[in-house]
This record gives sequence, C-alpha cells and structure tokens, in this order.
Amino acid sequence: MNTLVDGSMAVDAGLRWNNRFASLGPSFHTRLAPHPLPDPYWVGKSRAVAGQLGLSDAWMDSPVALEVFAGNLPLSGSAPLASVYSGHQFGQWAGQLGDGRAILLGEVATGDGAGLEVQLKGSGLTPYSRMGDGRAVLRSSIREFLCSEAMHALGIPTSRALCVVGSDAPVYREEIETAAVVTRVAPSFIRFGHFEHFSARGQLGELKTLADFVIDRFYPACRETAAFDGNPYAALLEAVSGRTAAMVAQWQAVGFCHGVMNTDNMSILGLTLDYGPFQFLDAYDPGHICNHSDPQGRYAYNRQPNVAYWNLFCLAQALLPLIGDQDLAKQALESYKTVFPEAFMTQMRAKLGLAEASDGDGALIDGILLLLAQNGVDYPIFWRRLSHAVASSDFEPVRDLFADRAAFDVWLLLYKEHIALDDKALAADLMLKTNPRFMLRNHLAEQAIRAAKLGDFSELNTLQTLLARPFDEHPGFEAHADFPPDWASTISISCSS
Ligand code: AMP
Ligand code: MG
Repeated sequence: MNTLVDGSMAVDAGLRWNNRFASLGPSFHTRLAPHPLPDPYWVGKSRAVAGQLGLSDAWMDSPVALEVFAGNLPLSGSAPLASVYSGHQFGQWAGQLGDGRAILLGEVATGDGAGLEVQLKGSGLTPYSRMGDGRAVLRSSIREFLCSEAMHALGIPTSRALCVVGSDAPVYREEIETAAVVTRVAPSFIRFGHFEHFSARGQLGELKTLADFVIDRFYPACRETAAFDGNPYAALLEAVSGRTAAMVAQWQAVGFCHGVMNTDNMSILGLTLDYGPFQFLDAYDPGHICNHSDPQGRYAYNRQPNVAYWNLFCLAQALLPLIGDQDLAKQALESYKTVFPEAFMTQMRAKLGLAEASDGDGALIDGILLLLAQNGVDYPIFWRRLSHAVASSDFEPVRDLFADRAAFDVWLLLYKEHIALDDKALAADLMLKTNPRFMLRNHLAEQAIRAAKLGDFSELNTLQTLLARPFDEHPGFEAHADFPPDWASTISISCSS
C-alpha cells in the first residue's frame, strides 16, 4: 500500500491499468470513488475471472482484497467513475439514466490488448442515482454473480463476475434486506443508451467520439468496410446487430429470459448485461414472463427476438446523425432479420444433434417446440433426455415427458429419420455438449440465497461448481438437475434489486 496525496491508502494489486473510457473526458462520466461498505464479508469469488485479470489466489484471499471489492480501499492505477447514459425503458423514452449504483474502477490491461473493465455494482450513490439509494441487495448480487458465470460456461456472451461481498448494512426494498457489492468484468460496459444519450441531446461531437472509440477498440473492421459506401457507422450498426442477433439466438435456444431488455441494458458488444429478474425456463412456455414488474409481458421469452430488433432500431436512430443516410441505416439494420433466424436454427440444430442443415429441419424444430409448449414439458430436462436417448436408442424416458404420447411418437418418427442420416455417436456427443444438465433455475438460486442469508455459502459454492461445467454429469448431484419443486412457481422476481 502507498499513501495517496489525499491521505487515503491505495492498494497495489500488481495490475497494469489502461483507463481508456476514463480518458474520453467529463462529458461521458463523473469521476468519483465508491462509498464505503461497513464490515464486509466474502460471499463468493470466481477464480477464473481473477486469473483473467492477473489477480492471484493468494491476493484474492487477502483481507485487503475484501476491502477493495467492498469499495473501502482504492486500487492504485484505477480511475473510478460513473458513466452517463439514457435509454428507452419498457418502450418509453426515459431520458437521462446512468450508472446509478455502479462505479467503473477502470480498465485492466490484458496480454491480448483487449483490456478488461472492472466495475463495482452496489457501491453507493452517484450523480445518476435518481430516486435510488445506490445499493444492491444480497439476493440480487448472488443471482448476478451465479448467472454471469453460468452464462459464460454455457458459451453465451456475457459480462463476468469476479466476486460478491456482503455487509450487514440495511437496504430498504419491499422489506429490509442487507447490502452487497458484485464486482463485474467486461471489455466494456457501453450500452445502446450511451449513444442515445448524446444523440438525443444533439451532442454530436460526443456521439462521434463515442462511436469512434467503440469502432477503434472493438470493431476495427468497420473502418475498412467496402459495404455501405464505406460508411463505418453503418458498418458498426450492422456489426452490433449481428452480435445482438447471435446473443439472443443463444438466449432463446437455452431458454434464458432476460426480463428487462431496456435499451440501457443492451451491450454495444452483444454481451448479456445487467442481470435483474432473469430466469431460465423450467416448463417450456413461449409466453413466459419472468419479471413480476412486467405484467404486460413486453419482455416475455418469445418477444425477446423482436424486442432486440426494436432496441437496435433505437440505436440506429441514435447513430443516424453519423450515418447520415436513412437508407444505409435501414440496410444495416435489415441484417438482423436474416442473422437472427439463421443463428437460431444453427443453435436448435445442434440441440437436436444435427451437424448440418437439411430439408425439413425447420419443420422438425417448429414441431417439437409446439409439442413442448402444448405439453408444458420441462425444457432443460427434455433436451438432456433426448441427448441420452440418441446415445442409447431408448426414447422411453423422453416419451414419458409428454401427456400426448401419440403426438410425440409422430414427431419422433420424423426425428429418427433425420438423425439416421447422421452418425448417432457423433450426434449424441454434440447434443451432450449443447444441452446442459445443470441450469441456474430460479429455485436453485433461491435455495443458495436463503442459505447465504444465514451465513451458509455451501449451496452457492456447489452451484458455482456445477454451473462452471454444466454439460458434465456430476454424479451425486442428481437433485440439482431434477424438475423444479412445486414452490418454484411461487417465486416472484421483480425489478427491485
Ligand atoms: P436497471 O433496470 O437495474 O437496469 O436500472 C435502471 C437504471 O436505474 C440504471 O440507470 C441504474 O443504475 C439505476 N438504478 C437501479 N437501481 C438503483 C439503485 N438502487 N440506486 C440507484 N440507481 C439505481
Ligand atoms: Mg441497467
């Protein structure tokens, strides 16, 4: 530790910093330190993320690390700030938002040059807190921590989570809860809403600075594009549309509901961001609404692909002053309509063990999704059982999942014809690596949270281990891969976190 000019102690964790977002200047953020969190304790850590940042296990286990990620000690070389953005929430222009409870510590330089930003979420008031208290509660921090790492292990682009620290400090939601801080990591936390912010205010210089920053750092190919009359901003829109389409295709295939797809929660890098009332489907219900604060179902599971397009349209409008031509913007946006269905089909074919496209794939996929919905079949269990059935040729355990067995038999006949064309062992292998055995179902998260509130983190640790390798069998943990209990349907998750 060394003493800063202002007397506070800065911790040298041996990190190299390259704070590029901070260097954009004061139009983009307010520099401020996290607010201290009293008497912090460890809740969870991801050794994998620590390793990516270059933080050793020994350092992560030190009392100093606990204080750092509680926001009580600054890291030397960091440049803490809260960024400003705006956005559309539930279809309405919400005006200025911003990091209301997140502090970006800075960007850690990584070997590959990409850099990783480190952010504390729940670290107190910022100039953008509006009516909020700047804090996050333990339950939502545990959910974000577990889900970020689970999504990563599923191969879905996401922000990562380094750790969660808790405190007995009270936080007032529907009832009194306790505070926690989750440390998130991503190459960038820039959202569609950052672009909307400057565009809506007519701050076109800042809009261009931001777009150039994102292109130069993350989408350099947009500078060399021959498409769109060489317009790099149209190319950026197309690239973001592509990444968003690919991400949402993965959400749909795995049965992930984000819950709050506001434009301020949409990553410019196509990462899953801002875990709130998310849920993985239990029974397959296309219209499932996971967010108790969304009675209209704007963000229902089956609406996510369209909502993503709607959000990209908002981004297109924000970028229009830079693109300069409505037709080019439309053209860039159009790509979503082909990329999403293609990406979705690729995902679903892999779930069925079909390595290549062939005639009738679409009917096969539509057919099974309809049957799953009509029979209310458990989504993850269906896919996992189907994977084993292809390996063993015993389809009885899959058939058992359907009330309407005759209808399933008709589909199965079609499916067997399809996979007969492929090598079965190869198909089963692909399926077992595509259809996870372990998912962060709501009731599992809930059990880990209930135990954690009593100071017992063993269930959280178990989940973290299982979800880090969700395609493995993990003998002895059958219960974690089983159907949800009846009480799971009574869990109510809202925006309040
Ligand atoms: P969310 O729906 O969680 O993405 O939040 C929307 C906006 O509200 C973001 O700008 C958040 O930073 C802000 N926000 C959410 N919860 C709080 C809180 N407890 N205190 C301050 N700001 C918050
Ligand atoms: Mg948000």
